[in-house]
Amino acid sequence: MMTEERWQAIINNDCAYDNQFFYGVKTTGIFCRPSCKSKIPNIENVRIFLDVQQALAEQFRPCKRCKPGEHRLPDEDWVAQMTEYIEKHYSKTLTLETLADICHGSPYHMQRTFKRIKGITPIEYIQETRISKAKQILASSDKTVKEIGFLTGIPNTAHFATLFKKKTGYTPTEYRKLNRKKK
Ligand SMILES: [Zn+2]
Repeated sequence: MMTEERWQAIINNDCAYDNQFFYGVKTTGIFCRPSCKSKIPNIENVRIFLDVQQALAEQFRPCKRCKPGEHRLPDEDWVAQMTEYIEKHYSKTLTLETLADICHGSPYHMQRTFKRIKGITPIEYIQETRISKAKQILASSDKTVKEIGFLTGIPNTAHFATLFKKKTGYTPTEYRKLNRKKK
């Protein structure tokens, strides 16, 4: 069903709504993502679909420009760009603002898109990446907790230890002991 919110998404090419719905234009028989930059249709000719299958079942064809049936979506590409950046730079200071600058989006829009696709916020993803690297280093080296904090982008040792415990249930030292014992 068409709503004011959806119509606004269509006329503003708002990619935050991509995958939440698609719209078909009766006069052309083509359906698009809300973000498609194609000509704004006449509202009376627009049909709303909640997924690609529904549009195809009604004999609409996917738009060649925004490719609504394609597996890899523009937002997924965008989020992949963010996660790649995080995985390369987790040892440095990373804020939502830096990430937004690098990935060309507003912090708000970026956070929202990231969360929709990954299920967690970019900041949570950064923390999880850091903790998972820290676990690897703890289990495979004799580096101190302080050094590991530095290497994983959390130079404040107390903060590092607190976050580590919160995410894993163990202090870094406990984790190391347990992990070494298993070997
Ligand atoms: Zn399109």
